Amino acid sequence: MAVARWRKKFLTEVTEKLVQLGLKSCPVCNSDTLGAKSWPVMAEIGGLHSAKDMQSDEEQNVLFLVGVECSSCGHLMLFNSERFRTGDEGTLVKGLTHEEEAEAEERGLWDD
Ligand SMILES: [Zn+2]
Repeated sequence: MAVARWRKKFLTEVTEKLVQLGLKSCPVCNSDTLGAKSWPVMAEIGGLHSAKDMQSDEEQNVLFLVGVECSSCGHLMLFNSERFRTGDEGTLVKGLTHEEEAEAEERGLWDD
């Protein structure tokens, strides 16, 4: 699987939503230096899978989590990206630089 990171637009939406929901400061140290990570955290669910299972659909049993980290104490909060997804809109960018992503966005190459 190619290296992937969140679409900038998606990450902005997620952080806005979390602030709306009341996440304004770190629950551990109370600092407001929270930042969403660009890279998805992948968690395997439902136990161990054989290599054969994984080949049929590599994303089948994997949750993609958005990590929000406090830069003061390092507390890392994970949120299920599926809760923030609207429709089939793509949330991950694979193999593009930030510049290429911005260009694709401008040219309307995304589905939405
Ligand atoms: Zn903290």
